[in-house]
Amino acid sequence: MDDPPGVPLGHYRGQAGVRFTCLGCMRHRDLDLETVIAGLEARGVGGARTGIRAVAGLVRKPCERCGGVRFATAPAFR
Ligand SMILES: [Zn+2]
Repeated sequence: MDDPPGVPLGHYRGQAGVRFTCLGCMRHRDLDLETVIAGLEARGVGGARTGIRAVAGLVRKPCERCGGVRFATAPAFR
């Protein structure tokens, strides 16, 4: 069974960014919400309606520390 996609990114506008946590080494990185939405739109894979947790499955860039490609995503509240 797939994980639920989570709350749509657009819901967090003005409230939170997106925290990407590498499942390999647990290093995390917070990105601006609009940057994430724009990136998904540019690639044609999602946008403001994409669920916060589903973003984890759309990451292309491996972890800078361990090279891992599996991530968890969650809102990063300011
Ligand atoms: Zn890592």
